[in-house]
Amino acid sequence: GLAFNPNVAALPPYNAGMNIAVARSISGRNDIARLASNENPDGCSPAVLAVLASPTLEPWRYADPACAALRAALGQRLSIQPDTIVAGNGSEELIAAVSRAMLVPGVGVVTVVPSFGLHEIEPLAQGAVVTKVAMTDDLSFDIAALEQAVASGPRVVFLSSPWNPVGPALDRKSLDRLIAAVRPSTLLVLDEAYFEFADGSCPDGLEVLRSSDIAFVVLRTFSKAYGLAGLRVGYAICSDAELARVVAAAKTPFNVNAAAQAAAIAALSDEAWMRASVARLRSERARVGAALEELGFRVASSQTNFLFFDCGRDSAALASALLQEGIIVKAWRERGYEAYTRLTIGSPADNDRLIGALARIARQ
Ligand code: PMP
Repeated sequence: GLAFNPNVAALPPYNAGMNIAVARSISGRNDIARLASNENPDGCSPAVLAVLASPTLEPWRYADPACAALRAALGQRLSIQPDTIVAGNGSEELIAAVSRAMLVPGVGVVTVVPSFGLHEIEPLAQGAVVTKVAMTDDLSFDIAALEQAVASGPRVVFLSSPWNPVGPALDRKSLDRLIAAVRPSTLLVLDEAYFEFADGSCPDGLEVLRSSDIAFVVLRTFSKAYGLAGLRVGYAICSDAELARVVAAAKTPFNVNAAAQAAAIAALSDEAWMRASVARLRSERARVGAALEELGFRVASSQTNFLFFDCGRDSAALASALLQEGIIVKAWRERGYEAYTRLTIGSPADNDRLIGALARIARQ
């Protein structure tokens, strides 16, 4: 028979949100509230839609494998050298590329639990040994435990801040403590997929890391605040050009398609759309969070476009009750965290539907 790569064959599945057709058939409803994948309910900038329809797109040509125009636009926006930036087919691809660039069987990786699945799956695919630091009882980072794990000298540390699935962001003092614990042989990957949703109390991780002397990768994406999840564009900002060169060597050559490159540049040019959307979603986040607390759920603080809460029972039961009403949320499945649910902040109408449904379920 076939001999698989045992590290890949043994991977845990990536727990993607439920398929909309399945949700329709289970609920018998056409209007599904999709609150499982942290998409932007506002859509995306009209500038993006215009460029996608523009005759300047040439689908018959290969896209620029270097994403030079996008990297130049990002470099200008962030005041960094474009040769330290690598664009990816979503930041997902860059988690895989960093893992391929850095990891060989047996080396150590540190991340957290609950975690964004790929921060564990991609290192496991390379045969790395993954240590996960648990969150505290008050649903936040356990900085003392993380500091100790980081200081043990893993090859790579994967942290998201703001933290998917929990919600809080590392504060300045905590980030400084972790940076001080990082050894020269360790790469710190700070995944800032939800960066744009954080408020002024959170540090800009890129700025803090640039003023340190450690090796780092900051990951950002167009999937969340900019609303381009379906086009797949993310980017890695590396501490130096040599690290960026090796990460780029680990990606596929034509990884970001032509429509996605053009759309990302258009999205960047319409910062006002993104800011307005983020403001709406933040105020909805506060409203939904308060409603959940009123219903008696314990909700983690959030600097993101989602909320993570303890539903006091197996979250799969809650998720399936919501699915009956045409609402898709994410029941957390990591061991020890099965009572938690993550829900994306949706449109005001979808959020109202969710709150109404939760109120009915909580009373049962
Ligand atoms: N990192 C984190 C922390 C995420 O939550 C996500 C999306 N769920 C990603 C990376 C991947 O995003 P994308 O590939 O769409 O850029």
